[in-house]
Amino acid sequence: MFETVIGLEVHVQLNTKTKLFCSCATSFAERQNSNTCPTCLALPGALPVVNKEAVIKAMRFGYAVNADVNETSHFDRKSYFYPDSPMAYQITQLYRAIVKNGELFINGDDGSEKRVTIIQAHLEADAGKSMHEGSISKVDLNRAGTPLLEIVSGPDMCSSDEALDYLKKLHSLVRYLNISDANMQEGSFRCDVNVSIRPKGQKEYGTRVEIKNINSFKFVKQAIEYEVERQIEAYEDGVYDDEVWQETRLFDTAKGETKSMRGKEDSADYRYFPDPDLRPLIVTEEMIAAAKEIPELPEQKVKRYTEELKLKKYDAEVITAQKELADYFEELLESGVEAKNAATWLINELLGRLNKLSLDITESPVTAKVLGELVAKIEDGTVSGKGAKDVLDYMIENEVFDVDAIIEELGLKQVSDDGAILAIIDEILANNEDKVTEYKSGKEKLFGFFVGQVMKASRGSANPQKVNELLKQRLS
Ligand code: ADP
Ligand code: MG
Ligand code: ZN
Repeated sequence: MFETVIGLEVHVQLNTKTKLFCSCATSFAERQNSNTCPTCLALPGALPVVNKEAVIKAMRFGYAVNADVNETSHFDRKSYFYPDSPMAYQITQLYRAIVKNGELFINGDDGSEKRVTIIQAHLEADAGKSMHEGSISKVDLNRAGTPLLEIVSGPDMCSSDEALDYLKKLHSLVRYLNISDANMQEGSFRCDVNVSIRPKGQKEYGTRVEIKNINSFKFVKQAIEYEVERQIEAYEDGVYDDEVWQETRLFDTAKGETKSMRGKEDSADYRYFPDPDLRPLIVTEEMIAAAKEIPELPEQKVKRYTEELKLKKYDAEVITAQKELADYFEELLESGVEAKNAATWLINELLGRLNKLSLDITESPVTAKVLGELVAKIEDGTVSGKGAKDVLDYMIENEVFDVDAIIEELGLKQVSDDGAILAIIDEILANNEDKVTEYKSGKEKLFGFFVGQVMKASRGSANPQKVNELLKQRLS
């Protein structure tokens, strides 16, 4: 009877070498406040200069989501004081952002593809960090001035599943575009979730609550589900107007609850005004050309994998969900193995084993080259599929990766040599003359018996496909 409405604001830290308005490094620094200069410390007289690399990366995102990339945009000051923000304002883009009106397609709850609007994506400078140690608070400004791209979605998602799928697609996209590391634990992909509910059929939106800075997909899901339930309960108890109001809440990960943090400011509260130190941001032809250099994206890969490589759509989607996984798969193909075999061995066998060990594909002890060698050994009949699984287990357990040596060591080498197999076949047939006669007079069921005898005599090492072929020949 209720409908959930969700809109997401995601802060993506751009992976530029230097900060947004000065030449300080964005890389990790051991010493606090060492990646700083008069500009990002906001010393009097220091002036900002826009980082072209950050602008190009923002534009690249815009093109990738079919957005309008504004040739002229502006920077504005959002005024508020916070100890980790020495300017007492944040430089951001309110009135005219660089990226407007984009779209991202997600899997909707009804199983069909769903379009989510990207209202805008704007550039802004990050704040520093406050650290509290007992009665002392310290400020580290190494992060102050780092470029962020804030990506604002429309209120288009209707469930935690849809919100999660949007986030995962966005996360994957910015990594494919190589504009951000998007590491949630380290804070380079931060998400604010706006949630409201309304009775089904009601046109107006309900009151939205903003839950700030959730740092894992799992917590996003939990926070939304808790918040939806809280709002619905308030509605049903007739206290919606008292308990649901426009505010900022925090998600308590230990309790699995959202908690009120502060009333939500209106944009008027921030006294936004155009930054007088920065001229309009005008992009050049050269920047447009650089931004349009977009690598192959997941959607295009899925299309190529299903149409050209004939993979199942599901498999193609699993592989492309993570850039590193797609990279691994493509390296696997370089061994010359069949795409379908490569996909099966990557998804069912390798990922299955990695999951059990809680390892990511980037941490896989078995490289794509080694897995490729193994799959090639199945394809050329050196080892059976079952034998190859033992080889894979052995590699992971013992951290040795010489495919041939392991096949040898485990005695898994299949006999595919015609002569050797024929010798066994002839012996079996000679020892079972009565059965051969029965077979020839129509008792075809006996074929399985002969296969079994040959496999047994070879102690399982004969290539079953070869055995079948050669037996048929001999018996015809
Ligand atoms: P602000 O700048 O105050 O954060 P915005 O208008 O930029 O507000 O909206 C922020 C986010 O809130 C957007 O992602 C938008 O989709 C979402 N949003 C707006 N209205 C609602 C609503 N009623 N329910 C859920 N989300 C909403
Ligand atoms: Mg906002
Ligand atoms: Zn600086």
